[in-house]
Amino acid sequence: MAIGSIIKEINDELPASTRLVAISKYHPAEMIREAYSAGQRIFGESRVQELQQKQAMLPSDIQWHFIGHLQTNKVKYIAPYVSLIHAVDSIKLLAEISHQAQRCGRTIPVLLQLHVAQEETKFGFTPNECLDMLEQGEWKEYSGARITGLMCMASNTDNETLIEKEFATALDTFNTAKQQFFNDDPLFSQRSWGMSDDYRIACRQGATLIRIGSKIFGPRQY
Ligand SMILES: *Cc1c(COP(=O)(O)O)cnc(C)c1O
Repeated sequence: MAIGSIIKEINDELPASTRLVAISKYHPAEMIREAYSAGQRIFGESRVQELQQKQAMLPSDIQWHFIGHLQTNKVKYIAPYVSLIHAVDSIKLLAEISHQAQRCGRTIPVLLQLHVAQEETKFGFTPNECLDMLEQGEWKEYSGARITGLMCMASNTDNETLIEKEFATALDTFNTAKQQFFNDDPLFSQRSWGMSDDYRIACRQGATLIRIGSKIFGPRQY
């Protein structure tokens, strides 16, 4: 099926409050143009150099989201234009994003990455670590980075009950964080969960951003 028809199909089944992030990593710029022609404006990339190249050659009204693990020494390259950084997993990264945003005269929206999956990974805060970090308050000094919500990935499994439980944990953590630390901040509103194989489950658990790659663009060529 053509890229545009798939995007339309996905959008037709999404709740009104949920937006599609088209994950274009490892796919050529022509495919992004095709999605753009179908009206898609939000694209997600996970490698800084690839994002830099695509950003330079594609329409300037694209909203580029950075979705992967971001090294602090690379923040400066994307700070001038990135519209959302999904996976902030340390205070150190938050501080650097704030610093680089201020150098560009911007405020960069970010999400905190939660680790809710069973897989061992060094990335992301557990729900308790996330709430402790917010309680501790140092993040308030980094006002160039604006925390607008949470992001997570579920376990890579066919067990839908487990996936749903993990998204529910992320939603609970979001609600607690909202109530305790962002009650008077309407911008703290984004829940980035769900990929090609689990976005319907994610929507049931309150996703406002779903990150879909292979369902739109096909398998990635590594
Ligand atoms: C690659 C990637 C996606 C998209 O995965 P698909 O299964 O191709 O939809 C979503 N989120 C993150 C963080 C990714 O790295």
